Amino acid sequence: MVRFTVLSSGSKGNSAVLTAGRTRILIDAGLSCRELFRRMTIAGEDPTTLSAILITHEHSDHINGLAVTARKLNIPVFFTEPTHRAWVRQLTPKRRITYAQWLEDQQRLKQQAEADTQAASAFNESALSIDAATDEAYDAEAEAAEVLADSPQPDSEPDLNKIPSRAEDPSWLPSVEYFAPGSHFTLGDATVRPFTIPHDAADPVGFVFESEGIRLAVATDLGYIPPNVKQELRSLDLLHIESNHDLDMLRDGPYPWNVKQRVLSRVGHLSNNSTSEFLANEYDGQASYVILAHLSECNNLPELARIAAEQALQNHASLIANRLLIAYQHEPLESIHF
Ligand SMILES: [Zn+2]
Ligand SMILES: [Zn+2]
Repeated sequence: MVRFTVLSSGSKGNSAVLTAGRTRILIDAGLSCRELFRRMTIAGEDPTTLSAILITHEHSDHINGLAVTARKLNIPVFFTEPTHRAWVRQLTPKRRITYAQWLEDQQRLKQQAEADTQAASAFNESALSIDAATDEAYDAEAEAAEVLADSPQPDSEPDLNKIPSRAEDPSWLPSVEYFAPGSHFTLGDATVRPFTIPHDAADPVGFVFESEGIRLAVATDLGYIPPNVKQELRSLDLLHIESNHDLDMLRDGPYPWNVKQRVLSRVGHLSNNSTSEFLANEYDGQASYVILAHLSECNNLPELARIAAEQALQNHASLIANRLLIAYQHEPLESIHF
C-alpha cells in the first residue's frame, strides 16, 4: 500500500508523510513536533509508527520541528552532509570576540594549563597524605557550590571548549544518515532518489519515491526547473510541485524589494507561470494527482494557482487522468491512496 498525506505546505511550514508498505517517511519537519503530531492524527496517520525523517534543505519552514520530533520518536534523520552541517551551524550560538579578548583568552588558557600541571604534581606528591584540613576545605567548597546552584545564574557566554552533553546540544539527533543527490537509496520498502534543485540553501534537493511500482515526486523551493529536474519528473503517479506566487501579486505586494528579488531569482521559488509552463510544455501528463504546493499566503491565491495549472493541463491529451489538488498551510490534505 502506498499513501501520501500533505500535513502542511507554505512558507510557515512544510511536511508530508509517505507510507510505502511497512515504511513511513516524514518528508521535512517544518511544523513544531506537537503540531505535526496533531495534524497526523487528524489525517489518520499514527505518529509513533514513523520510520525516518527526510530533509530537503535547512530553511526554517522545513526543519522547525526536526530535533524534537526525531528525539521523541528516536528515529533517524536523512540529510545531505552540507544540509546537515548548515543546520548544525544554524543552531550553534555564534560568539564574536575582539582581538584583545582573544589574547586574554589565550593567556587564561595558558595559566589554566600551568595551574593544572602544578596541581597534578602536587597531588602526586601528597596523594597518600590527605589530611583533615583538605576535607574541611572540600566541604566548604561543596556548600558554596550548592548555594550557587540554588541562586539565579547571570547570563554567561557559552564555553566553547566544553563538549555539550546530549541535553545541552540543540543539534543532537538519535541517528543521522547522509545521502547524495543523484544516488538512490533504499529506505525500508521505498526507494528514494534525491535530486538537486536550484534554491538558496546549502545543498537543496527534491525527491522521487518508488514503492510497489508507484512513483511520487516532491519538488518545492526551486527558482526554475532545470533539465535534471525535468528528467526526474517523468512517469509519475503523483507530482507534488511548487506554485509559489502570482507574478503580479508579488510585484505589487508588501515584500521589500530585496526579498522580491530573492523570490524571483533562479534560486528562489516557482511562480504560477513557471509551473504552468512546465505542465503545458514539458510534463508528460502521466500522474493521477498533481498537487500544487508551497503557495505564498501573501503573493498568491489558491484560485490563481489553480486556474493557471488547469489552463496548462487543458492542452494535455491525458487531462482526464490528472486530478489537480492544492496543498494548504493550515490544514492537512486528505490522504491519497494508491
Ligand atoms: Zn527554502
Ligand atoms: Zn520552503
